[in-house]
Amino acid sequence: MASNNKDISAGLPAGDASAKDSKSYDSLLQGNKNFVEGIVSNDPDYFKRLAEGQNPEVLWIGCSDSRVPANQLTGTKPGEIFVHRNIANVCVHTDMNMLSVLDYAVNVLKVKHVIVAGHYGCGGVAAAMGNKQVGIIDNWLRHIKDVYRLHSDELDSISDEKLRVDRLVELNVTEQVYNVCKTNIVQNAWKERTDLQIHGWVIDIRSGYVKDLNISCSNTDNLEKVFAFD
Ligand SMILES: [Zn+2]
Repeated sequence: MASNNKDISAGLPAGDASAKDSKSYDSLLQGNKNFVEGIVSNDPDYFKRLAEGQNPEVLWIGCSDSRVPANQLTGTKPGEIFVHRNIANVCVHTDMNMLSVLDYAVNVLKVKHVIVAGHYGCGGVAAAMGNKQVGIIDNWLRHIKDVYRLHSDELDSISDEKLRVDRLVELNVTEQVYNVCKTNIVQNAWKERTDLQIHGWVIDIRSGYVKDLNISCSNTDNLEKVFAFD
């Protein structure tokens, strides 16, 4: 049996020490030490238990923005939330990454709640509302322009630009909740069990509080007929 102490860097390139010679980088490693020591001093077996497996009841589909971490915002610990994040929390039915996470969460982990979590002041949503080219991301943000198109009458009637972005944030979360509901993954799970709910949240990064959009779904009733599978 291989020793646990085996040097896993053996045979790998030495790396460029100067590349990681920065305060922000070093502080991450120090932060990790502090985090582990803080937990282990109160609960020596914490990580041993964590290593045995995960049983989260929640899948979080959130924005990549650094200000909206799932665990800190919900006061949860490692092991409690399964997480997928992308720019502007978009759920696209051809995104194998999102579909794989959703399938694993729903069918293997058997999560009870899927939360699509957007946030006010989302740069991705704001960029989607504008006309400036940013790069490859322009193609990703096209999905949000489609949301805008669906709700353009309401959005164009909001003259304040910040309020218009915030409303599109809410509408984007709503559309992404429906996109999750439209997957055969979720619809097949609903045929087998009644304890799976899809929710829409918006985090107000100016206060830290979550706004529940109260659009939770546990069946296909809110979907247009064409999207409901037999
Ligand atoms: Zn964002």
